[in-house]
Amino acid sequence: MITLNNIEKVYQTSTIETLALNNINIDIKKGEFVSIMGPSGCGKSTLLNIMGLLDEPTKGEILIDQKHVEQYTDKALALLRNQKIGFIFQSFHLINDLSVLDNVEIPLLYRNSSAQSRRDAAREALEKVGLSNRMKHFPNQLSGGQKQRVAIARAIVGKPDIILADEPTGNLDSAMGNEILNILLQLNAEGCTIVMVTHDESMAKKTHRLIRLFDGTQVY
Ligand code: ADP
Ligand code: ADP
Repeated sequence: MITLNNIEKVYQTSTIETLALNNINIDIKKGEFVSIMGPSGCGKSTLLNIMGLLDEPTKGEILIDQKHVEQYTDKALALLRNQKIGFIFQSFHLINDLSVLDNVEIPLLYRNSSAQSRRDAAREALEKVGLSNRMKHFPNQLSGGQKQRVAIARAIVGKPDIILADEPTGNLDSAMGNEILNILLQLNAEGCTIVMVTHDESMAKKTHRLIRLFDGTQVY
């Protein structure tokens, strides 16, 4: 589904050069649930951003469904990002002055769907994460675990093939964190491919495969 070949990422500022990723080779297959672990600063977020086409590598090639990213037009890539990939972040990234329902609809605003079908899809996504009773609330009226469930609903509302989750339980206590992991496991059981950055070994153990990074390099 997503293949990274010999990926290198260098961050260049006027004074420092940081080798954030060094010769990374990863093949994420359809239906997999893959964890990424490693110490702070080892390149996990950079790797996820590159997989999600939010950032470009300095070297190496990316294939989506066996097709080189360079072969897609800009328009096709924008569509891929919007329709194929769902993102979840540690700090939720919800918009505080929009209701829960409006937050979940955001990814659909870029599509030609009607207001009614957007609303229906958002309701369905919120049902899936058990938040039907919070649709009219605003993010600051929710607990951390609830906010993350809204973020998951937003990630799945467009029915993506793959979810990229950057420490989705990092700001949550262990009970709420486990709730979030269980939702992700359920989505994976329903066919969604998931790549998750985590600091929690016990969570990583519940996924199919673990990739460890150290200082920008894959370790086995
Ligand atoms: P992790 O997610 O594992 O904590 P990151 O991918 O955020 O690691 O960062 C990897 C390395 O790249 C770190 O050394 C970090 O300081 C550096 N880095 C990340 N983003 C930037 C940036 N925008 N500019 C310069 N250096 C960066
Ligand atoms: P964390 O990285 O701890 O999971 P968040 O996901 O809440 O924290 O968001 C902040 C981080 O996300 C920043 O450190 C930034 O490097 C990274 N980030 C988010 N979007 C982008 C982007 N488009 N390009 C580069 N970095 C990004």
